[in-house]
Order: sequence, then structure tokens, then C-alpha cells
Amino acid sequence: MPRRRMIYEGKAKILYEGPDPDTIVQFFKDDATAFNAAKKAVIEGKGVLNNRMSEHFMTGLNLIGVPTHFIKRLNMREQLVRKVDVIPLEVVVRNVAAGSMSKRLGIEEGTPLPRPIIEFYYKDDSLNDPMVTEEHAIAFGWASQQDLDEMISLALRVNDFMSGVMYGIGIKLVDFKIEIGRVFEGEFQRLVVADEISPDSCRLWDIETGKKLDKDVFRQDLGDLADVYAELATRLGVMPKKSIAAGPKLVD
Ligand code: UDP
Repeated sequence: MPRRRMIYEGKAKILYEGPDPDTIVQFFKDDATAFNAAKKAVIEGKGVLNNRMSEHFMTGLNLIGVPTHFIKRLNMREQLVRKVDVIPLEVVVRNVAAGSMSKRLGIEEGTPLPRPIIEFYYKDDSLNDPMVTEEHAIAFGWASQQDLDEMISLALRVNDFMSGVMYGIGIKLVDFKIEIGRVFEGEFQRLVVADEISPDSCRLWDIETGKKLDKDVFRQDLGDLADVYAELATRLGVMPKKSIAAGPKLVD
């Protein structure tokens, strides 16, 4: 069988050419990195869980009319997605103060924000992904004003959807990062949610206990990341409960 051509290897995923010129296969690795890859580990099973959870969120977004690049999951570690031109801006949405915003502005972690706050970061590892304003994005040609308006609107819709999904399973969506890409349909351009949506790129806190169910567990050495991701996948209903799989089934 001919080997597929690899297009790009990132920190958590590998991209391969898809079966058609306008598709790509995303392979989810088990690698975890933090602090711009200064901290690294292989977390067995992480790729499988993120593939499944990202499928779950992207499918839901597609269903409610928020366009994404997701087409279908192919197997445990791979999904087929539309090829897009990724806009070189990470879009962060925050509902609660945490992480870099708490540090930068001295706002205590956990402080609810009066409205969702959107930030843009320029995607460049050698610069440590610096925060930028819309002015930079327009002046340097990364995105137009119309793109930025559309990106904000997409990000807020993703925030509403993800907040609701998480609230339904007793979890607070503190913040998250998405990436957005351009697809061309004839002479028209459309923006779609790209990359992945997974606990690697969200902050998720249990509403009752405050337990962290995201990559901060790895960043801050709070426990076993694979266990936490498995708990999240089980609560989302995308992975069978361990106890059910292991033990006898209850019959009504
Ligand atoms: N985030 C991400 N990739 C990045 C930077 C941030 O997925 O390269 C996510 C992060 O997981 C969190 C949100 O974006 O959910 C906001 O991150 P923050 O700016 O607070 O940075 P951090 O404290 O994670 O360095």
C-alpha cells in the first residue's frame, strides 16, 4: 500500500493528505506539551480520547449550524477534515479569569467575568504566541476587519454551545482556544472552526468540587491526565463507564 504523504507534524497531531485534494487526515498523537513545549510527556490514550471528544463537539457545532472543518471520524486516532487555510491567530474566549489573563492583569483565578472576553494571539512558537490586537491583524494582513468580525461571532457561538454542553454535565467552561480557517466555495470565502476542540485547549472545572478536568492537570502536575480525560469522556457520554464495561449489566 502506498504510504500517505505527511503534510505537517505539530505538537499533538500529524496531518496527512486526505483521499481528495480538498481533504486532510488529522492523526491525534499521545504527546502532551505545555509552556510552548518546554514540558513534554507521552500520555497513553490521550490521542484516542481527544479524537473522540473533538468529533463530539465538532459534530454538535455542525448540527446547530456553526461551520467546522470536521467531516467524519475514520478510526480511533484519525478524522477526515476539510483542507482549510488556517488564519494565523489563536482565538481565546474567557468566561472566568484564569491562566495568563489572571497573571497579566492581577485578577484572581476563578473571578467570573461580566461578559465573555475574546483575545487574539499570533501563532508563532518562536515568539511564544504573543497577544495581538485587531489593529495588528489588519495591518499585517493576517485577517481583514470582516474576517475578525466573523471570527468573533463564530467564537461566541462556540462559547455558547460549549458552555451549554459542559453545564449539562456539571462542568464550568472557564476558557478555551480555537483556530479558524478559510474555505473557498467558488469565488466565496467562508470561515470555519478548524484544528480541534478538546480538553487540551479548554479550561474545565467541575461545578461542585472545582476539580480541573483539562490540560492544567498536566501543566500543574495535579494527577493522571489520561484518567481525567477518560472521566470527561465518560461524563460526555462518548466513552462507556468503566464500571459498566467491567461489571454485570443492570436490567430494568
Ligand atoms: N490555549 C491553548 N493553546 C495555547 C495557548 C492557550 O489551547 O497555545 C488555551 C488554554 O488551554 C486555555 C486558554 O487557551 O484554555 C487560555 O489560555 P491562557 O492564555 O490563559 O494561557 P495559559 O495559561 O494556558 O498559558
